Amino acid sequence: MKTTIYQAEDLLKPNTIKHLKEVIQTGGLVVFPTETVYGIGANAYNPDAAHKIYQVKGRPQDNPLIVHIDHLHQLNELAQAISQDAHRLIQAFWPGPLTLIFDKTDKVPDTITSHLNTVAVRMPSNPLAQMFIHATETPICAPSANISGKPSSTLFEHVKMDLYNKVDIIIDGGKSTIGLESTVLDMTTPTPTILRPGSITKAMIENILQKPIDDLSEMIHESPKSPGMKYTHYKPQGDIILIDGAIENVIKYLNKQLKKNNNDDIAVICAHEVSEQIHAKQVFDLGALNDTETIASNLFIALRAMDDMNIKTIYIHTFSKDHLGSAIMNRLLKAAGYRILSV
Ligand code: AMP
Ligand code: MG
Repeated sequence: MKTTIYQAEDLLKPNTIKHLKEVIQTGGLVVFPTETVYGIGANAYNPDAAHKIYQVKGRPQDNPLIVHIDHLHQLNELAQAISQDAHRLIQAFWPGPLTLIFDKTDKVPDTITSHLNTVAVRMPSNPLAQMFIHATETPICAPSANISGKPSSTLFEHVKMDLYNKVDIIIDGGKSTIGLESTVLDMTTPTPTILRPGSITKAMIENILQKPIDDLSEMIHESPKSPGMKYTHYKPQGDIILIDGAIENVIKYLNKQLKKNNNDDIAVICAHEVSEQIHAKQVFDLGALNDTETIASNLFIALRAMDDMNIKTIYIHTFSKDHLGSAIMNRLLKAAGYRILSV
């Protein structure tokens, strides 16, 4: 298969819009940028097209897809029983990085929900994502545009590396602004429940709903051997050593380790404050400790860079759970297989 690549300005051309619609309406796949990460999209009402996504990614069949919409009327075709709480959250956070889980309608094929009775829906805010969905005139089911198990793609170059000539179209939208996947919030439970933390935080949701919500993703943090933790995620080829401790202790530990062994295949991914004080050959500076937005937007790029440099041992330190920190720690723990080294 030959992949067509479009730039942002191409989406203003009628021929591009026609091509996007044709590809999606005939069961093809399109990779598109969103504000969170890149997505690999198909017509949500076409089970065969959705099935292709699983094949191309090597994604386990029991991991359902998020349906992306560009207009609220599409939600009524997909979801049943949209509560007052859901309406409030939609009002506050859509378009944006919040995925809501609803009871599904019969119109939603089982292939995309992995035979669950529920469907995950989100309205992305990235203008290119909106133009793409609008052009196709259908909801788009889309997981992250990466080979399963690898960090999600947040750069066009990463999408190209994983999916070039495996999909019909790739839209180049540059670097994803947020860089971590959406917050997933289950609206079918008596109390709304976070299943995956993202840049819309628990506090932001509680502030809109004016009541406490549950967070199941936190429980997974606390029980490292949780049987629900079936799949490897965000994993570079090298081993990740996730270090937890006061920043002075982290620096001391790293310098001690690096003194023993500072080969080319050892790297440190860390906050700016740490990078200035360690003597590693390979350092990836994620950004200042208190700038969780920058750290989040660089995290997957850093993890992917490790494979490009053939790194065998990757040291990373933990981050406080303020702001985006909870979402960052969720991804780091998964990447590290839930092992933490306290120093
Ligand atoms: P990805 O787009 O690759 O980040 O994956 C989508 C995420 O949404 C995965 O963590 C799925 O398990 C989750 N998801 C999608 N649909 C549902 C659903 N109906 N119920 C619970 N989680 C879902
Ligand atoms: Mg994914």
